[in-house]
Amino acid sequence: MDPDSLLFPHKEVRAVQKELLAAIQKGIDAKRNLVIHAPTGLGKTASSLPVALKKALEEDLVVFFLTSRHTQHQIALDTLQLIKEKFNLHFGVVSLIGKKGLCLQPGVQSLTAKNFHEFCRAMREDKKCEYYERMKTKETASPEAELALHDLEQGTMGSTRVIEVAEQRQLCPYELSLLLAKRAKVIVGDYLYLFSPTIRTSLLAKLGRQLDQCIVIVDEAHNLPTRIKDVSSEFLTSFMLTRSKQEAEKYISEELQQQIEQIETTLSNLAQTLNKDNERYITKEDLISTLPFDIDTFIETCETAGDSIREEQRQSFIGSLALFFAAWLGEDKGYTRILAKKQGSKGDYLSLSYRSLDPSIVGAEVFTNCYSSVLMSGTLTPTTMYQELLGVDGQCQEFESPFPQDNKLSLVIPKTTTKYSKRTPEMYRSIANTINELAEDIKGNIAVFFPSYAVMGEIYTICSTLLKKTIFLEQRNMTKTEKEEFLERFKQYNKEGAVLFGAITGSFGEGIDLPGDLLHGVIIVGLPLQKPDLETEALIKYYDEKFGKGNEYGYTYPSFQRTLQGAGRCIRSETDRGVVIFLDERYSWPNYYRCFPNEYNIRTTLLYRKMIQEFFKTTE
Ligand code: SF4
Repeated sequence: MDPDSLLFPHKEVRAVQKELLAAIQKGIDAKRNLVIHAPTGLGKTASSLPVALKKALEEDLVVFFLTSRHTQHQIALDTLQLIKEKFNLHFGVVSLIGKKGLCLQPGVQSLTAKNFHEFCRAMREDKKCEYYERMKTKETASPEAELALHDLEQGTMGSTRVIEVAEQRQLCPYELSLLLAKRAKVIVGDYLYLFSPTIRTSLLAKLGRQLDQCIVIVDEAHNLPTRIKDVSSEFLTSFMLTRSKQEAEKYISEELQQQIEQIETTLSNLAQTLNKDNERYITKEDLISTLPFDIDTFIETCETAGDSIREEQRQSFIGSLALFFAAWLGEDKGYTRILAKKQGSKGDYLSLSYRSLDPSIVGAEVFTNCYSSVLMSGTLTPTTMYQELLGVDGQCQEFESPFPQDNKLSLVIPKTTTKYSKRTPEMYRSIANTINELAEDIKGNIAVFFPSYAVMGEIYTICSTLLKKTIFLEQRNMTKTEKEEFLERFKQYNKEGAVLFGAITGSFGEGIDLPGDLLHGVIIVGLPLQKPDLETEALIKYYDEKFGKGNEYGYTYPSFQRTLQGAGRCIRSETDRGVVIFLDERYSWPNYYRCFPNEYNIRTTLLYRKMIQEFFKTTE
């Protein structure tokens, strides 16, 4: 196989990368779906994008490179730029971030995604958005839009440049991106562009494309099941009901206000029988049958009222009620309905949810109808689970890590646990003592990830007086700038060594890159298990009925996925050396131990100090 014939952008291709390229080429040629576990360092983007692009150029297809975060767009854009330069090729590329992130209207960033969607729709329909109005002359792009396109088609542009040009020419950046997308061979965007059915339908219609003309690459595909479930779920809170009542009183009618009050009363009554964790399942009828009005008429009234309220203000809670109740009347299979009492900053509130349990409902629509797809991630094991969860009819393949095994020491230390029933001051002290030993033995920077902020807080209190190294403590809800500054300061300690404390589900557990000597060790404290709430229970039951694997698919693997993401922060390149510690006795239990991918070459030991010291001796 000649890598150049596949538009491979780099000079050299490693042997294992050749295998990956060949597998992707074979899959795309055969119009197949591929689910690929490819550990860090294999060059997933550089192997998948060129092969897909080549096919798209030959067969007039379009490549969707979909990511879960827009920070992942740049690597795809850089790869495409390299291809253009190396092969002197000209093809269109666009990076589509969420519409709200592109919008030039002031004040929209505080709107929820759904409220923003409704706001934008109303602005366009009422011809009130000046940026949108300037985009078109009858059915074609306006001269101003053509000039902007000309500016943008000169390079492989990220969304920042699109916003810049749109601002200069006072055009809607989203609509401008869509015009670029129409002419593009590669669209780099969020998962939702294809995995939200409404967004997909409207986008493909605007592009004049069908799914069978699309090659879909899903980057970091381990995130896709949760994202699909989230976008297919709807929520209603007592706060939304209160605000809806106020809107009804101010703008609409007393009758609508009373109907919303009746919903509040029904929910309060249903909340009398919550379980000890303040939750209960409810059925569609539990809610609907007690309401003394016709629900379809109520939804229609709310839709119309929402539109008229948006004439006066940016968002309408009544409009959100319409969306929620329309979803509530939907399917039972693959969904669960839960009423819960939760704690908020302003006191307790009720939350009613219609939650999706089955990402394969949406996944299969895409994977069955697209030309071909490549789902890839460095933590996509077991691949068959992702295949089943996402409804992918295709082929699974797992690749070895390209990095020398000797460069990583992966140990389970079965000495402590963060199991809820065993969380005592003595246990926290024992965990802190072990972290202290590890911080002494692992030279340089270390990251320690905890199952929750609460556990992190307890152990930090002890470690702050115990550890010689400086501790960087992650705070909840850090802004993007705060996170960047925090990481920059941490990196500067690479010689003397510091310890980053973070929550595994927080800002640093996934998506940070600390290559070379910036990080020498990762410690995963505890097992970040799902909360055993009703949603988890419903997931387990559903996956048991559907696949006979309720616990694995609904509980164990999703938790383990978080562990592996955190562990993956160490060893980001071929020459990196580091230690990964799994600090909880449960990692040595067979049901969890078997979740480690092969490339971990994991060992369970209490002689960790000796092993770590010897490991680092060989590097000195
Ligand atoms: S049309 Fe464009 S600029 Fe106008 S509200 Fe929608 S996204 Fe914002």
